Amino acid sequence: MKRNNSTRRMKFINAAVNKLIFRPRKDDRMFPIIDYCHNPVEGCLHGCIYCWARKKAKNKLKNTSFRPQLNRKKLKERFKPGYLIFEVDNGDLWGDWVPREWISAVLGYVRKYPKVYFLFLTKNPARYHEFLDYFPENAVLGATIETNRDDLYKKYRISRAPLPSERYRAMKELDWDLKIISIEPILKFELERFVKWIVDIDPVIVFVGYDNYNNRLPEPSLAETLKLLDRLEHITIVVRKSIRRAWYESLLNFDFYRGGER
Ligand code: SF4
Repeated sequence: MKRNNSTRRMKFINAAVNKLIFRPRKDDRMFPIIDYCHNPVEGCLHGCIYCWARKKAKNKLKNTSFRPQLNRKKLKERFKPGYLIFEVDNGDLWGDWVPREWISAVLGYVRKYPKVYFLFLTKNPARYHEFLDYFPENAVLGATIETNRDDLYKKYRISRAPLPSERYRAMKELDWDLKIISIEPILKFELERFVKWIVDIDPVIVFVGYDNYNNRLPEPSLAETLKLLDRLEHITIVVRKSIRRAWYESLLNFDFYRGGER
């Protein structure tokens, strides 16, 4: 399959932009282009400190351990042509612990709906490379990269997932034309380096947003984020999700924090 297909890329951009324009936005926590979240696999072992899905699993889904599991019944759901589905948001389908058979079952299902887009999102995009020959053309391959700073990631023990720089390399080397990046929840970053990462990855859309769950993460100031947004908007389509002042800016005088941790 030819993977660098600009027609396919434009078609997806049109579909996504149409959803952005014509759909009333209800909730900044959701990706605004998504029609439905489909979770044949739930659970995750990355252990991100800000994980909302783990809390949801404990409170609503009765999966208190957040142990990964496949629900084959979900692979019988049907979708209308033109839908854009977030495939597995209650976990990470691409974690190293996920058996190949589960992923193959999900890809087989995705293949049955060629007129529906399926958006995948992972913190382990290296695993996409294992399946590159099996992805159908309606697969959109995404990665969360909250920052370019591995040091910050380690210092605050943000997650056990591969470091941001590892995700960047995996996405940059991924030979696929429909890629997206989620910078959410955004963490402090180095502007020039982070922008270069996005240029190298060449995503069709970048989503940017602050943490929605009051986790007091090491966030950039609003001014820093606005600079990043401005630069990214010259590169690709940028969807702004929850854009606000950093939590500490709301508490204290902004000038006090300008000399804060870099
Ligand atoms: S990768 Fe997603 S589902 Fe897994 S722990 Fe992190 S936030 Fe939760």
